[in-house]
Amino acid sequence: MLRAVFTKPHEIVIEEAPIPDPPPGEAVVRVAACGICGTDLKINEGHYLGRLPVTPGHEFAGIVEALGEGVTGVRVGDLVAINPNLPCRRCEFCRIGKPHLCLDAQAVGVTRPGAFAEFCSIPIELLVPVPDDLPLALAAMMEPVSCCLHGIDLADIRPGDSVILLGGGSIGLILLQLARAAGATFIAISEPRAEKRELALSLGADCAVEPGEIGSVAESLPDGGAQVVIECAGVTVAARQALTLVRHGGTVLLFGVCPPEETVDLQPYEVFHREITIRGCYTNPFTDTRALSLLASGRVLVEPLITHTYSIEETAEGIEAVRRGETVKAQVLPSR
Ligand SMILES: [Zn+2]
Ligand SMILES: [Zn+2]
Repeated sequence: MLRAVFTKPHEIVIEEAPIPDPPPGEAVVRVAACGICGTDLKINEGHYLGRLPVTPGHEFAGIVEALGEGVTGVRVGDLVAINPNLPCRRCEFCRIGKPHLCLDAQAVGVTRPGAFAEFCSIPIELLVPVPDDLPLALAAMMEPVSCCLHGIDLADIRPGDSVILLGGGSIGLILLQLARAAGATFIAISEPRAEKRELALSLGADCAVEPGEIGSVAESLPDGGAQVVIECAGVTVAARQALTLVRHGGTVLLFGVCPPEETVDLQPYEVFHREITIRGCYTNPFTDTRALSLLASGRVLVEPLITHTYSIEETAEGIEAVRRGETVKAQVLPSR
């Protein structure tokens, strides 16, 4: 099979490798589509939790090709989407039902070989059955949708709420649709790129503006700010800006992956006096099947988000296009 290996910072090697032989408890999946994510850029730069060399790719779906010894409940030919996060099941956080905070987690495409490859061996507990009528390229969006769903759950959006999203990439555009599904009546999005603002409007945003204009949008709201503001660009100045856009008693959700070394000024008095809730949000505990159901029902549309596709040989080209911000969602389609 063909696979892309991230060997050292900014180096991607395309190579032939044997198709993995699934060990007991695992299944080999023939990868149909795998999204390129900001995490993959960080792995490519040598920054993230992944240890190079690694074959990344954690947003994917495919067809079960082979089963390890003793595997039951999964059959060859099953259509599956993959939850890449594998908790240890032993640490304190796993034992209290917070596996996403696991102290010793593995992740497909980060610490284990991922899906910028034709085949990938996966522990069967990470396979989620895909309904027959959901195309696998759309099912490959289960992972990002499940992360967004965890964010929407934590933001506690109620019918009638106003929501501001800072960032109109694929994540912002999924959060937009989920905020609507959760009952938000006014949703504004701030995004520097005109074509992404257009897409946001076509997916139901009430208003899409450049980042410099979102302050006046917030001021024009009845209570001088939004009930919920979500930073989903991974930009530290946007995280600070979020605090100025939220109304009294509102919630700021930090969803984007900001550079770890950056900080923001915080006025404790402001948080106290305005009773602002600041929440973090990490990965996708227990939200994968709901994400698939939203995709299958068409309540979350991801087809318009998939703007670029690449073969395995073109993985580096795809990574660069994502880095330049040209794509909304780019996918690698490994099957030859
Ligand atoms: Zn991702
Ligand atoms: Zn654990």
